[in-house]
Amino acid sequence: MRIAFINGKIYIKFKPLEKSESIVVESGKIIFSGPTELSLKKAEKIVDLKGRTLMPGFIDAHMHLDELGMYLNILDLRNIRSIEELRNKLKKFAENHPGPIMGHGWDQELFLDKRWPNKHDIDDIVNDRPVILTRVCLHAALVNSYFLKIMNYESEDGIIKENDFETFRKKFNSLINRENKKKFILDGINELIKNGITSIGFVSCSKEIFQILKDLDKEKKIPIRINVYLNAEDFSPDINFKNSEHLKLKGIKLFVDGSLGARTALLSEKYNDADTFGEKVFDENYLKIYIENATKENFQVAIHAIGDRAMDIAISLLKNHPGGRIEHCSVVRDDQLEKLKKINLVVQPHFVLTDFWVLDRLGEERARFVYRFKDLSRISNLAFSTDAPVEPINPFLTLYAAVTRGKFENIPISKYQDQAMDVQEAIYHYTKCSAIALNESSYGELVDGNYADFIILDKDPLSIDEKDLEKINVDEVYISGERISENIFK
Ligand SMILES: [Zn+2]
Repeated sequence: MRIAFINGKIYIKFKPLEKSESIVVESGKIIFSGPTELSLKKAEKIVDLKGRTLMPGFIDAHMHLDELGMYLNILDLRNIRSIEELRNKLKKFAENHPGPIMGHGWDQELFLDKRWPNKHDIDDIVNDRPVILTRVCLHAALVNSYFLKIMNYESEDGIIKENDFETFRKKFNSLINRENKKKFILDGINELIKNGITSIGFVSCSKEIFQILKDLDKEKKIPIRINVYLNAEDFSPDINFKNSEHLKLKGIKLFVDGSLGARTALLSEKYNDADTFGEKVFDENYLKIYIENATKENFQVAIHAIGDRAMDIAISLLKNHPGGRIEHCSVVRDDQLEKLKKINLVVQPHFVLTDFWVLDRLGEERARFVYRFKDLSRISNLAFSTDAPVEPINPFLTLYAAVTRGKFENIPISKYQDQAMDVQEAIYHYTKCSAIALNESSYGELVDGNYADFIILDKDPLSIDEKDLEKINVDEVYISGERISENIFK
């Protein structure tokens, strides 16, 4: 059936900006855009947009679907202001939730106490089952003595970081059953639909979760488009899987360093506020073997690099592998820009707001190297994402961060407004550029022949005050021309 969408503000693409009076959809694809009169002639059915805005669905190029779903079901510690508050929340949660406890989102930088929490702060609340409370950056966590004992791990304060953190997290995940994991994924998908996200890059996916995704796809329970990047250790070249329209195996995800928050991002000069360069979390030779294996099978390589020294390593690793991705690119020196030319750069604008303390770590000298999105966009393909649940999944919060760069919050790096984008550019990076980073050419713009993946908004992001971006609501979501209702799995 040919369906015409008329009587709205319709954005076909954002660079160069192209609008249309109407579009026509057939068999899941866009078959026409142009004057309403012509659309009406072709159409068998008409949808009246009643003045609302229609645009391509957002594409989140780097997020963690299983963890997003899990975080919808765990103790939320974001924006708490003290260790006392952390204790109270944990107490309340423990009373209502049997079994192992996970919490997420604390940031000691926000604490009035001005110190890191430790195991003694939580041991008297829960001492009969494992507790893991992850820091906002997901590179460090606080665990209780019970969990330390299970892991046979000595720690004075109960703070675990990087590789140890990963080991604890894996153990914790193994304590969660498959049914719950499936529920997390479906909850995560619902959340994406609610937020107008029609396609994602699901990074750091495990073999087990990938198997659950395959089963869900067979049951036709994946309405969005999921592009999977497996953990390096979960990838085997003989992996026998045929991509479907909604689930594709794209590549592997590797790590070079940690995060600025935990001072584990790898820098070429020492931190401003600690006697360290950060950490290299994997050896280059080890990474090289993974990259060789993956590219031999035509899989894409995505490398996590945050500090500028980590960027050096990622650049050299991807030198002979054009089309690869570098995730985060948080600190980039001038001399590195040119070398990023053939690499997809996948950034998270909302880090600007969350890492408001970033100059404490890096100092004034390096301030202009941080989150330099405009410079990066001039050099190469720059895709937007959230790293959810690290940052909120809501794309309008990401747009707000990219456009304002913290000028209303008065954060120190907001003085570099030359790196701010306008809304039109920001949406371009969040749609077409994200599709490019995912190696997809058939969505991200609503041109003829592309998938009819689009969203209908109650307000036009291009004509709203930047302060009001987060007030925009996603009214409807269409994937392959079909309306997807949120909570379809509830
Ligand atoms: Zn991530």
